[in-house]
Amino acid sequence: MIITLKKESRSLEKALDGKFWKVPREERIVYIIDGKIPKDLLAELDIESSKETSRSFKLASREYLEEATRVRVGEIEFGGPKVVICAGPCAVEGHQLLLDVARAIKDAGASVLRGGAFKPRTSPYSFQGLGEEGLRMLRSVSEEVGIPVLTEVTAPEQVSLVSRYADALQIGARNMQNFELLRAAGKAGRPVVLKRGPSATIEEWLLAAEYLLLEGNWEVILCERGIRTFETATRNTLDVAGIALTKTMTHLPVIADPSHATGRRELIAAASRAAVAAGADGLLIEVHPKPEIAMSDGPQSLTIREFELLMKEITKIARAVGRCV
Ligand code: PEP
Ligand code: MN
Repeated sequence: MIITLKKESRSLEKALDGKFWKVPREERIVYIIDGKIPKDLLAELDIESSKETSRSFKLASREYLEEATRVRVGEIEFGGPKVVICAGPCAVEGHQLLLDVARAIKDAGASVLRGGAFKPRTSPYSFQGLGEEGLRMLRSVSEEVGIPVLTEVTAPEQVSLVSRYADALQIGARNMQNFELLRAAGKAGRPVVLKRGPSATIEEWLLAAEYLLLEGNWEVILCERGIRTFETATRNTLDVAGIALTKTMTHLPVIADPSHATGRRELIAAASRAAVAAGADGLLIEVHPKPEIAMSDGPQSLTIREFELLMKEITKIARAVGRCV
């Protein structure tokens, strides 16, 4: 049972004898209760809402909050009518390149600049990112162009550093079940984009989101980025039905990353159209002025021209499903 009170109740906590979790939400206190509340006490409490869910994830469930949660990153709102487009290079490579991409994607209609400064690479020999120098570039480009930035955090001890520079934190697919990182990001006071693990079920993904919510961070955006299947022709398999299904299971916004889902530039437009048509609240797309020399993920990065064309297509699909870009 999940009950929401206007203020915390010592008598309730005493009666529950430690069998509860407690989390603040917008001036209220939410109790997740593993047991029964004595009837006489129930009558005394100033209960705003009392909900039941059989889901393992409680706070993330649609049973708890029927209405879609809107998450703000800067001035932009995820989870509303707008399909929010986030774009930028896989990794921050240099100031000028980032500035050029930021200007171009913003002009084309994107709302958030992405770029990794701490890169979780499969091989330890691959480019690992510019670290804090990359974060500084993100911040200065963000101010110069007037666009919020999203960047990855790979370890709990990086959370405070990355939060100083970024408007939103990304938790990467490989770290979806790094529970200490989730707890730290839950305390960061920044919106979090939580990528689905390559082998995670939707339930495991929502339980990972639950870690963030339980720390009092309600600004969580889920990102489907393709899952690992037997198919090797694409880098991953975009779970299009999973996007639609996840939105029925949770009130949190769900976006899609067609770049990591396909691994192939020529498939990004089709995957983007499918994701938006399936109800995605946004897209995360890799863009690089010269993908052939990108330091990471070049084969799945769009050129600026390709991105501009894609924005036109996405705008049409968004309109067709009653949304805007
Ligand atoms: C990324 O967005 O660059 C990234 C590393 O993505 P993922 O964690 O989905 O592989
Ligand atoms: Mn990448």
